[in-house]
Amino acid sequence: MPAVRPVLADDVTRLSGVGPRTVERLRKLNIRAIGDLLFHVPIRYQDRTRVVPIGALRPAQEAVIQGRIEVSQVQFGKRRSLLVYVSDGTGALILRFFHFNQRQREGLETGRTIRCFGEPRVGPRAMEMVHPEYRIIDAEQTIAVEEVLTPIYATTEGLQQGMLRRLTDLALQVLADDPSMTDDIDTLLETHAPSPMPALRAALRYVHRPPPDARQEELANGRDAAQQRLALDELLAHQLSLRRLRATVRSEQAPAIPSTSASRTRLLCDLPFALTGAQQRVLEEIDADIAQSRPMLRLLQGDVGAGKTVVAAALAAAVIDAGHKVAIMAPTELLAEQHRRNMQRWFSPLGIPVVALSGRQKKSERRQALEHLTAAAPCIAVGTHALFQQAVAFSHLGLVVIDEQHRFGVDQRLALRDKGRYEETLPHQLIMTATPIPRTLAMTAYADLDVSVIDELPPNRTPVTTVVIPDTRRPEIVERIAGAIANRRQIYWVCPLIDQSDVLEAQSAIDAADQLREALPEARIGLVHGRMKDAEKDATMRAFAAHEIDLLVATTVIEVGVDVPNASLMVIENAERMGLAQLHQLRGRVGRGSTASDCVLMYHGPLSRMAQARLKVMRETTDGFVIADQDLALRGPGEVLGTRQAGTAGYRIADLSRDADLLPTVRALATRLLKNDSAVVDTVIDRWLGYNKEYASV
Ligand code: ADP
Ligand code: MG
Repeated sequence: MPAVRPVLADDVTRLSGVGPRTVERLRKLNIRAIGDLLFHVPIRYQDRTRVVPIGALRPAQEAVIQGRIEVSQVQFGKRRSLLVYVSDGTGALILRFFHFNQRQREGLETGRTIRCFGEPRVGPRAMEMVHPEYRIIDAEQTIAVEEVLTPIYATTEGLQQGMLRRLTDLALQVLADDPSMTDDIDTLLETHAPSPMPALRAALRYVHRPPPDARQEELANGRDAAQQRLALDELLAHQLSLRRLRATVRSEQAPAIPSTSASRTRLLCDLPFALTGAQQRVLEEIDADIAQSRPMLRLLQGDVGAGKTVVAAALAAAVIDAGHKVAIMAPTELLAEQHRRNMQRWFSPLGIPVVALSGRQKKSERRQALEHLTAAAPCIAVGTHALFQQAVAFSHLGLVVIDEQHRFGVDQRLALRDKGRYEETLPHQLIMTATPIPRTLAMTAYADLDVSVIDELPPNRTPVTTVVIPDTRRPEIVERIAGAIANRRQIYWVCPLIDQSDVLEAQSAIDAADQLREALPEARIGLVHGRMKDAEKDATMRAFAAHEIDLLVATTVIEVGVDVPNASLMVIENAERMGLAQLHQLRGRVGRGSTASDCVLMYHGPLSRMAQARLKVMRETTDGFVIADQDLALRGPGEVLGTRQAGTAGYRIADLSRDADLLPTVRALATRLLKNDSAVVDTVIDRWLGYNKEYASV
């Protein structure tokens, strides 16, 4: 039976009163189809369903009150304000206005009845509401309160809550007639849900317009059964789409590659170290994959410094010997450059060409590089993700290695899948990440990948000692740096993360470098920040790697992947502003050589309790997995997966840490549906991920 195109997939323009300006604003919220409005659930609720006696008001709990204006007077003082005393027989409340005009003031006359909505707080004399919404009403007249909790939606400039409420009302009407929102999942959940859940349609109605008796505490925490039903549906949709995609890719052809390879043997012989047991085990897992004529889809997880690059190189050697090309992608130019240098060091002695693709190349260089890629001879191509996305036509591509995966979103990963198709084959894919991801999270976020873990660091690493120090003790730290330089150690100084402003971030790094230059006139001090040209950054990094620089002042641009083994002291300013995953990545830049390393986490007090807990974790462990678990518990999965803003982990409603208890059900349902019921699978994927796509055949 061909899928019927659900009405909910229709464009929002079908709703009355939606003009081009509204469409544009809705797009900013990722709302295009009518169904998208339904999945744009409220971020919180206000209770305007009843009038609360003033005597029962609680601080910080928004409420509607109604009472008589006793006195209204202007108070002069530090800030002129209008105070309106209201009482209702159960208590007295002061309304405080800092901005008011004459007319407003006259309207708030003694003796009138006022109804208002606002957030009470404890004032010097009585409970107060600052700038409440209000209206003067006729005492005799009974004015209705709201019938449902008032939803508050995330919005964007120019789009009022009233408009969003009107549009969701319309969308809920469409929902009532749309068959795509009732399905077998509701029936399955009657027996398989971890706790009772409403049907999808009822759940949607409920979260947009909760009745007055809704359990508000649960709603506020996303733990209401209706919210759980939606989260489950969304997690299921993602799980199904990733697993189906995996099945599609795995049904394709890939070159079968023998692991016995002369180049690999030589490469490993030439290394100044032997692979660790973990590296060997992981390489065997990978070899078993590529020996088959199906594309490998494997995630290689390993803490910072675990030695993933060498494993990728050993794999690349075998692929090259089998006559195929290898593409290595990094998230930044800096890292691409580092990979290129490593590959050149390892592969040039073997006569295997390493081709760089870079945004900074001259046209002629780039053309030459591209010619290499279209020619038949095997080579190793290294560049950033962006460069590979542009129309680069590879021939005989046997392997794609994607480094530091957590910088790439799931969408990008999926989009990459079809790149590199050559004749009838797809390349094998190895995705490397330094972000240790707890198992449950990995099974959900990477449901399309097999996972290998390097769970052992190379020998002779001395663990990093971490101290947490207030920034008032900065002079001591500077002294310590002077000592370290005298001992020929190298130092990173990381400047604070400044939200949404790489200009300010860069400036703070420039200032810090100036201050340190003044305090340490003998030291050779370098600076890297995000506003510098790539060439400048690279030159500075190279100078640091060559020990022509003692102290490198940097913004968080050095977070990922940079490898300078002689650096053994890291100072991080305003560490309390950073996430655990990020601190762990940063700290991983030291402790790579055989000297004992130190990390100084400087903070600007006072610390919140959350910040204290986070810094304590950093002080107590260097185990990436422990840190990731703690991070998940303290901050939620966005940070663990390396996506900073909520929602960018790709979910609209689900929250992997809050909803972790749903995951076993999600996986079990997915397995069952994929086996038995592809029509339901289509429906579920479509409603969450499909409205934005074109329907190929209706
Ligand atoms: P990451 O997993 O963070 O990408 P790298 O591949 O950059 O780690 O390796 C970190 C450092 O450890 C590099 O200098 C690398 O040469 C070195 N290394 C890798 N494997 C071993 C090993 N088995 N023994 C000793 N050093 C190793
Ligand atoms: Mg690396």
